[in-house]
Amino acid sequence: MLNYRVLFSWGLFMIKKDQVVSLSFTLTNDKGEVLDKADKKEPFFYLHGHSQIVPGLENAIVPMVIGETKKITVTPKEGYGEIDDKLYVSVDRSNFPKTGKVEVGMEFMADIGVGGKRAFIVKEIVGTDVHLDGNHPLAGETLTFDICVEAVREATPNELEHGHAHGGDGHHHH
Ligand SMILES: [Zn+2]
Repeated sequence: MLNYRVLFSWGLFMIKKDQVVSLSFTLTNDKGEVLDKADKKEPFFYLHGHSQIVPGLENAIVPMVIGETKKITVTPKEGYGEIDDKLYVSVDRSNFPKTGKVEVGMEFMADIGVGGKRAFIVKEIVGTDVHLDGNHPLAGETLTFDICVEAVREATPNELEHGHAHGGDGHHHH
């Protein structure tokens, strides 16, 4: 008996760059804690081939067909990266605007030179030392995505121009 799923995997129905994919998913970490989810009624949309989702997930979605479910485990390398100790930095309070608060949990964009801008979160404040962490909150985590491909369509010209998906009908205004 021919298994049609196998045929699809040969590339007849590959998900291609510039298609908008909608997914329902549950994201868990290696402790089994649910970190994020989207259900069929309000699926998550992304523009395929534009690095909008982590590489390990995007690569695993390519051979999938509409209605197919898959459990995809993504290592930090294929996910949000390993924890980088160089991104734990301590700066003096005087580097922040004098007016306005600096509190644990706040996020700041900082220029890191070659790599451009990056979000840093305030982890601790000791005296005038502000300890910042520039790692992605999910860096170092092995993540499991339980996904179902709900729909696939071609991106609209507007979406291609913006470089991201606009949701169900492609006519989100912002
Ligand atoms: Zn847009």
